[in-house]
Amino acid sequence: MSNYILAKQNGRNIPLEDKAFGASNRAKKMIAEQGKDKVINATIGSLLNDEGELVVLESVAEVVNTLKPVQYADYAPIGGVVSFKEAVQKAAFGSYQPKAYVEAMATPGGTGALHNTMVNYSKAGDKILTTDWHWAPYNTIAGEIGRSVETFEMFDGEGKFNVAGFAAKVKELVAAQGSLVIILNTPAHNPTGYSLTDADWDGVMAAIREEAANAESIVLLVDVAYIDFAGDEEEHRKFLPKLEDVPANVMSVIGYSLSKTFTLYGTRCGAAICLAQTPEIAAEFKRVNEFSARAAWSNAARISQQILSDIYSDEALLNKVGAERAVYRDMLIQRGRAFAEEAEKIGLEIVPFDAGFFVSVPCDNADEIAKKLEAEGLFILPLKKGLRISVASISEAACRKIPAMIKKHM
Ligand code: PLP
Repeated sequence: MSNYILAKQNGRNIPLEDKAFGASNRAKKMIAEQGKDKVINATIGSLLNDEGELVVLESVAEVVNTLKPVQYADYAPIGGVVSFKEAVQKAAFGSYQPKAYVEAMATPGGTGALHNTMVNYSKAGDKILTTDWHWAPYNTIAGEIGRSVETFEMFDGEGKFNVAGFAAKVKELVAAQGSLVIILNTPAHNPTGYSLTDADWDGVMAAIREEAANAESIVLLVDVAYIDFAGDEEEHRKFLPKLEDVPANVMSVIGYSLSKTFTLYGTRCGAAICLAQTPEIAAEFKRVNEFSARAAWSNAARISQQILSDIYSDEALLNKVGAERAVYRDMLIQRGRAFAEEAEKIGLEIVPFDAGFFVSVPCDNADEIAKKLEAEGLFILPLKKGLRISVASISEAACRKIPAMIKKHM
């Protein structure tokens, strides 16, 4: 029997409570009852300082005070403010100059880029391919529009990115569907913190090129939501030229988000940026994305489009933002390393980790372990394949404490 009253299920699987928000609410309740020092809330996907307060880049916040009302109150064009479309390419690409036909579309966060890519480049009923460890909303976004997510094992037996598993699934899905949308979240993947290496990328692109001959279309969405928190900014953009060497029926879309990179989570701003092989395919990208935007959210919010435009039109300001972000990025990297170091010391296995907001611990009975840890005041997110710990939301000292707390219950 359906557990809906008036609402229609329409093939979707809608839980009663979001797992992450549920755990976070229980943590808040325990803090209220027992005090802050009794609780570690490692469920939150935003960067917090050691005192548990949201980090907001001051250099970015200052721009808000300089805005004129029309710059944020007016509608933005459906595809985005022209100066934003230019600025966001610089933000996503760094010094890389694409040899492809590029179009950038403003979206409400990286989420909007994910939605628009799925809706336009897959067919009703299609499977979208991603890694077995992945951000759960991929399923939500796909399910809402009558698609579903299919996965390949992200790591092989030696803890290396599983290029062979990826290639096999690409082949299988292309044979079954004719066309395929792939999502890879890198660098600083959520929830593992893994970043694809140069060799991983070569393998991924070789597999796509090979299957392209049998496919109607293959669209690779690179979800770079955490790109500026992975380490050296240029180093982590080195993969971009590899996206260019493809036949015309393959297109990459960069799913960019201002949420983390500019600490503008709540202003809902991001972009879908295509690297197309022909001007016609780029023009089509613009056309279909504008249509989908109109259907789902109309125009994206203007304020952050203006903020980013202003930052990229003032070199001194851009440098200031970069320098301020680098301090927090290093703090975050330090926390992740502290966690990994302690885990290694006590022999707790973690999923291959490079950098980012999260570390994951593989286990079979994640729900059960998470429940026991909650009783001890440690709140982390149980996933199908293990436990996700947000190092972004806790201090380095807490990062050093958690591995032993988890190990005890394994
Ligand atoms: N992709 C991943 C893997 C994420 O973790 C997030 C946010 O948590 C996003 C994309 C997009 O976020 P937003 O829509 O807030 O920009």
